[in-house]
Amino acid sequence: MCGIFGVRGHPAAAELVQLGLYSLQHRGQESSGIVTVDDTSRAHAVRAMGLVSEGLDVGELRGLAGSTGIGHTRYSTAGSSVLANAQPVVASVRGGAVALAHNGNLTNAAELRQELEDSGAIFSSTMDSEVIVHRIARSRAERPEERLAEALQGVEGAYSLLVLLGDTLLAARDPRGWRPLVMGTLGDSVVFGSESCALDIVGAQAVREVEPGEIVVVDREGVRTGARLTAKEQHRCVFEYVYFARPDSRVFGGSVDRARRELGRRLAREHPTPGADLVFSVPDSSNSAALGYAEESGLPYELALIRNHYVGRTFIQPTQGARDAKVRVKYNAVREVLQGKRVVMVDDSIVRGTTTRGLVAMVRAAGAKEVHMRVSSAPVTGPCYYGIDTPTREELIAANYTTPEIAAHLGVDTLGYLSLDGMLESVPDGPHGFCHACFSGDYPTAPPTDPEKLRAGCGC
Ligand code: AMP
Repeated sequence: MCGIFGVRGHPAAAELVQLGLYSLQHRGQESSGIVTVDDTSRAHAVRAMGLVSEGLDVGELRGLAGSTGIGHTRYSTAGSSVLANAQPVVASVRGGAVALAHNGNLTNAAELRQELEDSGAIFSSTMDSEVIVHRIARSRAERPEERLAEALQGVEGAYSLLVLLGDTLLAARDPRGWRPLVMGTLGDSVVFGSESCALDIVGAQAVREVEPGEIVVVDREGVRTGARLTAKEQHRCVFEYVYFARPDSRVFGGSVDRARRELGRRLAREHPTPGADLVFSVPDSSNSAALGYAEESGLPYELALIRNHYVGRTFIQPTQGARDAKVRVKYNAVREVLQGKRVVMVDDSIVRGTTTRGLVAMVRAAGAKEVHMRVSSAPVTGPCYYGIDTPTREELIAANYTTPEIAAHLGVDTLGYLSLDGMLESVPDGPHGFCHACFSGDYPTAPPTDPEKLRAGCGC
């Protein structure tokens, strides 16, 4: 997964993009980058491994001249975590520089890449996103929006894109609208961000989402819809509401906080826990859902797990041993809250079961008498091919075991997952028009021919 941010028409473009990326750090922590374009349409780039605060040096940022810029935070599988895969991608094409920042995964990138390589294209990364840059370079169309529209014909899968072509800024979403992309204004400048929290940090006003299949152009003439791709049925990612986006954001036009509270309330109705003493969340992603559960059930909401904010994500550690140790480094239990209590532990999802199992053991060791696990999404039974880093089916606990078996493995007294329908009915503008493939197996596109290659080479 990734975060993207862009601005056109602001004298401090690079600094603004950097601020936006700070707010989108949760969408990608492996690498980050900023590209600006100056008055002569020359591109200036900084890309680095690690967090925005570590990699994007203030001194270097000062060298990024220009009033137009885009940036990217990247999060993918460990194998492809190299600087060559940091974005934005920059190249030189007819008419000047091109830079591209991509959130999502293309499902036919391998085939498109093969075609391009067969006709002589030389790739400088393993990212699917680079395919789009090559296709822009080959387009004979005149206007930037036409070049992008042509490049995107036949590209399948998920993409929210920010593209600089000369000093034109383009923003596009795939026709199914998998990933969010919000447009806003800051005085006379136009800004885009994966989530509205990135607009808030720079003081911009959110205007609307870029629509699925829409290409928005921002150039000297102003801002307008430049092209529309062939319409398809909408498949917005429901996991954005469940886990990925920040609760202070609005995505797909809806509030993430409201969505998560409703998921929690619904969970409390589907899986009440009579006789429990308190509810707590696995911080931070399930805080709002746990609040919803507490509101609906009338149980007190407690802070029973404390998260160390200086430790990165446990989920993407390459080995099981490293993941186990990281759980203890990342969380600790509050004995005074848990001792002798029958507790409800709310998490937003169970993927491999690794974190949860470690946490349950920790909560019991801190004195909890009964542990009732409640999950504010349906069981994850399949990998995502559209931009979320879910592991293969073999590693997904719910793809291989029944709920009672999972409960036994986790060491909980009871386990309740929100139903698929309950989940889809709880999110804003649900239940229709969402992708739930990782929960239901209902994939809107043909799966990629080589999913492993996709994982190794994905844009985010
Ligand atoms: P696990 O215990 O291995 O099943 O991991 C579940 C935890 O990972 C939950 O606390 C989720 O909030 C979190 N999680 C779910 N999906 C992802 C993801 N794609 N990347 C990182 N963390 C995730």
